[in-house]
Amino acid sequence: MGAKRFNPIRANFLRKAAHSCLLFCALWMATAPGFAALEEELSLFREGQYQDVITRLEKVLKASPEDTRAASLLLRVRLEVGQYSAVAQQAEELLKRQKIPGVAETAAEAAIKLGEIDRALGFLKGINSIAAGYLRGQIALEKGNKAEASAEFEKIISQWTSKTRMSSDELGIAAVALEKLGRYEEANQIYREATEIDPKNPALKAAWGRLLVKKYNPADAEGLFKEALEINTNHTGALLGMAELSSSRWESRVPGMLNRILQINPSMTEARVMLARIDLERDNYVEASKQLDRALQVNPKLLEAWSLRAVASFLEGKEAADQLGWIARILKENPSFGKVYADLGDFAVLQRQYKLAVDYYRRAVDTDPDLSQTRASLGINLFRLGEDDAARHELEEAYRRDPYNIWTVNTLRLMDSFKRFDSFETQRFRVKLHQKETQILQSYISDILEESLQDLSQRYQYIPDQKVVFEMYPDHEDFAVRTLGLPGLGALGASFGPVVAMDSPSARRRGEFHWGSTLWHELAHVITLGITDNRIPRWFTEGLSVYEENTSRPGWGDPMTPGIVQALQLVQTIPLADLNTAFIRPSQPGMVPFAYFQAGMICEYLVEKHGFEKILAMLSAYREKQKDAAVLKQVLGLTLEEFDKQFRDYAREKTYGFAKAVDFQWSGSDHSIDEIKVELQKNPDNFFAQLHIAEAYTAQSKFAEAVPYAEVAKALFPPFVDDGNPYIILADCYEALGQKEKAAVALLEWKKYRGRDPEVFKRLSKLLSEIGKQNEAVQVLSEALNVAMFDVDIHQQLAERLAETSPQKAIEEYKVLLALNPPDKAEAHYRLAAAYHSLSDTSNARQHVLAALEIAPGYRDAQKLLLELTGQ
Ligand SMILES: [Zn+2]
Repeated sequence: MGAKRFNPIRANFLRKAAHSCLLFCALWMATAPGFAALEEELSLFREGQYQDVITRLEKVLKASPEDTRAASLLLRVRLEVGQYSAVAQQAEELLKRQKIPGVAETAAEAAIKLGEIDRALGFLKGINSIAAGYLRGQIALEKGNKAEASAEFEKIISQWTSKTRMSSDELGIAAVALEKLGRYEEANQIYREATEIDPKNPALKAAWGRLLVKKYNPADAEGLFKEALEINTNHTGALLGMAELSSSRWESRVPGMLNRILQINPSMTEARVMLARIDLERDNYVEASKQLDRALQVNPKLLEAWSLRAVASFLEGKEAADQLGWIARILKENPSFGKVYADLGDFAVLQRQYKLAVDYYRRAVDTDPDLSQTRASLGINLFRLGEDDAARHELEEAYRRDPYNIWTVNTLRLMDSFKRFDSFETQRFRVKLHQKETQILQSYISDILEESLQDLSQRYQYIPDQKVVFEMYPDHEDFAVRTLGLPGLGALGASFGPVVAMDSPSARRRGEFHWGSTLWHELAHVITLGITDNRIPRWFTEGLSVYEENTSRPGWGDPMTPGIVQALQLVQTIPLADLNTAFIRPSQPGMVPFAYFQAGMICEYLVEKHGFEKILAMLSAYREKQKDAAVLKQVLGLTLEEFDKQFRDYAREKTYGFAKAVDFQWSGSDHSIDEIKVELQKNPDNFFAQLHIAEAYTAQSKFAEAVPYAEVAKALFPPFVDDGNPYIILADCYEALGQKEKAAVALLEWKKYRGRDPEVFKRLSKLLSEIGKQNEAVQVLSEALNVAMFDVDIHQQLAERLAETSPQKAIEEYKVLLALNPPDKAEAHYRLAAAYHSLSDTSNARQHVLAALEIAPGYRDAQKLLLELTGQ
């Protein structure tokens, strides 16, 4: 497949298919003769002053009950605020007196919203308008009668192509008809034309925006929604579009936006269904059910709501018959409603049940081949399961049907790029590394993969039943494509069970990314997902992965950043019942890292207070489909509340009283020493105040005076290793005072608390070497590679040190060094040759000494070595 076909497209964007219908505010009223008096009402209607218009029109009708135009407009407004039953009923009365196509259309629309299809068809009988044709098409679609629907939509479009004069509203209908037929570019063109004719029509803008959302252009879509809302702040179509955009970004404000829509139109079932979906994502089944009840009160046959009933049944682990019952009911109403399977698939993905998701998605596209987003999801999830060929097949089909789907396009591009990756196998892994990095990474990665899986398998008593796929991406965007759809999870690495993908060490700035920890974290997911058949809740799999990276080796895991400390001070701990939501739909962006932090600490608490075997017992219980409350009761004998309380006490202790010494108001250096000293008189436990005094004395070279302050600061809050931390101040002071031992101790502590700066690692290694601790010095250098894998300097120092003690390891290091293209290549070749020579490997020694001399013919040491080698 040519890469050319897939043009790069901006940001990935998911949007759930909108339940679109909504006719446009028909212009028939303005074109009818006479009755100029309603102009003001019409414009108020467009501005969204619905209650105001209703009051006015009621007054008009009281004065002149025969004013059919006023009556028609009133129905239109009532439709907008969701008084569907009243609209249908009043329209029936009106239509008995006089046949008015616009009234019949409004009534039909109301009847459709009530799920009264036959009644709607009755209203439309004998009406041949464009709007009526559209509604008949819509009804046919709802019955799963696609051919009939298409015929209706085609009829509308033929009027457009035959250049029949159409109003802007009719153009809007033609655009929606084109959308339904999958002719998106033409639909886009008509929307443009229609809004040029009628720039103040909010319904047109909202509908156009929703097309753009569907076609992965969120920025322009948002612009259109905003324009629509400037004209009419209460436009429910535009508000719903905005909510859908926010939802696709997993923003926590979505429920608020939906509730605002429901204030305007309490019968807006789309908003209820979206709210129910969010409740289901949060495992809030009771609330979800209430929302679905309310939607079904409006339309008892709302298939989208029935579909979420099936989802709830799946999530709550009810008998299979229950779920099948809902599916059967749905397909009886509409045999093409594959969306129920798509919904089930989406929730299976959220539950990380990828195999199950693939099954559901397959059934979805078998039931409705037009679900192109679902077909893309099918391909992507096959890819996640490591079934690359099947994945490519589905994605190519998805692309054929919808070349605009950015997920499809990006994933196919990524698959194409695999030809630039090297594949190799280790005992338990199938590894993919980018060819430009294989030489540098291969041996490190192979070793740590095997070691981590061995260690985890032993402790968790679980061995994956197939080789684990492991991929590393130097380009973070490729990684993002590989993992898309899992916000919060996909920061650095992601695991889909037997497939792990992560950023390569080169994808991030040095010192920012501890790739060893991330690798260990992801492999822990392989274990905990596998052991529970992917039934582990998000908080627990993340918690165990964080726990594992934190405890795998000293200094591994994430440092306690100021962001975490702030979140900790703000919320202290999140109740377990809300923890999953903090990962998926956080109340603010900083809460996601905090959720990881807390989940990790929960696992630490479990191991420390209850024992590791309880972790294994909990995993078995989750495998048996039990939920949090039951698992805690069964394994720990605790209720959720008791658990939260015990953990909170533990967390308080472990975080130095929720970081009470850390007062961020004092974090800046805008206080004078005198001010700080006054503060310390009052509050000696002010971490930053102690630290600032230490800093100030250090700056004045008063090292002995600085030390006690830095020591106090360190004791007040040891995990702080961010800029200006006490460990560096202490190391500076002790070194200046000639106390290298103490300086080294300070930096070793810094490392223990997960300091990340590669330069500090180098400094520590040098210090250790100077005080005669050569082994430790080498150890620290090799640890530094976890945060600076591509640092030439570190590889060089490491190779030189290893040459003295273990030439075989030195050889590996020199090879990596050469692959990194160091400034002095000749020397690297020479030293590699010397290492080979020390192992009596003459042939390799000669090869590299010659390589050194080719670069630097006058290199004396190399000449000498060559002589020595030829003399043998
Ligand atoms: Zn994770």
